[in-house]
Amino acid sequence: MSKITRAQFDDVMVPNYAPGKIIPVKGKGSRVWDQDGREFIDFAGGIAVNALGHAHPALVEALTTQGQNLWHLANVMTNEPAIALAKRLTDLTFADKVFFCNSGAEANEAALKLARRHAYLHYGPDKNELISTLGSFHGRTLFTVSVGGQPKYKEGFEPTPGGISHVPYNDLAAMAAQISDKTAAIIVEPIQGEGGVTPGKKEYLKGLRALCDKHNALLIFDEVQSGVGRTGALYAYQKYGVTPDILSTAKALGGGFPIGAMLTTDAFAASLGIGTHGSTYGGNPLGCAVSLAVINEITKPGVLDAVETKSQRFRHGLKTIDDQYGIFKEVRGMGLLLGAELNEDWAGRAKDFLGAALDEGLMMLIAGPNVLRFAPSLIIPDADIDEGLERFERAVAKLAS
Ligand SMILES: *Cc1c(COP(=O)(O)O)cnc(C)c1O
Repeated sequence: MSKITRAQFDDVMVPNYAPGKIIPVKGKGSRVWDQDGREFIDFAGGIAVNALGHAHPALVEALTTQGQNLWHLANVMTNEPAIALAKRLTDLTFADKVFFCNSGAEANEAALKLARRHAYLHYGPDKNELISTLGSFHGRTLFTVSVGGQPKYKEGFEPTPGGISHVPYNDLAAMAAQISDKTAAIIVEPIQGEGGVTPGKKEYLKGLRALCDKHNALLIFDEVQSGVGRTGALYAYQKYGVTPDILSTAKALGGGFPIGAMLTTDAFAASLGIGTHGSTYGGNPLGCAVSLAVINEITKPGVLDAVETKSQRFRHGLKTIDDQYGIFKEVRGMGLLLGAELNEDWAGRAKDFLGAALDEGLMMLIAGPNVLRFAPSLIIPDADIDEGLERFERAVAKLAS
């Protein structure tokens, strides 16, 4: 094979992405290497996906073992890994039932469809309204960009589906004013990820639960980014002590293999009867076998507890850098989903940090123009945190000089 170059991307790919200038070819743990053998520390984790880093032995083992046996059957047959994974997820959460799909958007699509259908079956067609929050992100399908609270992702794709409204996040009064007996569901991220790494307030999420109960509306938690250990609990709702009716999960669920799931209770699951919804690849044995290995690793004793310790280490390191250079307005987030908002002097320059970090051998993320985002492997070694932060500091020093 002749050498693939970054320039070729522009020749053959739809220009909806603007990938960085390097082409990674190998990963191990929290380190990644490009075509030229340059090594990078990974604070991005494939956008909160590689929760166990790269090429984790247990995941490689699950993938290769399953890969030699059975990849796909479609849902005209069930399979062992799908049932085993569903059993594990229902044992570990509020849920009684699971629907598998392949991405976060699809998990939300299933959640929103279930909410509407449940309202339709139990209260009639007028109860169809969905309330979401400004700044939220729920995926890129037409339904999920419509429900998402960021207008830029809808522009030019209208007409979008109706019956959807948006209110400010963490504003219980605004939600109380918007909800009615016509509301089928409220959907929120317990921590807004793409919108800037903004944790929901506990009283807010509790209040949403009460509002939904009062109006027979379903509470959907989009945990596509906050789930699978990211906050130090398997799911963020467990940390908050507020239980949704439906939960969507993806990203880290496959640790890098595409899989998504919608979790719900028996009572609501019943509204998606035979033939009402589906996905060809959803619940395929290969994805479910890998995901089961992810869940098994993450729930091993000590792994989730260590997320909080690593979070402290990260925050401390970021604070030390901020003390010296004065770049942040605030560092926020939970567990290993951290956002550092730039102060007025650096407003709008988050992208510059991405580029500068890459030059120093560090992969990281942003969440909008003002927030630097960190979502490393949940098992990143302390030494990699320290060295990654040193590289980050060098990047900051260059930008500040
Ligand atoms: C990433 C994300 C999605 C979309 O997931 P895809 O797998 O890209 O479809 C949905 N919701 C949240 C909160 C996300 O962070």
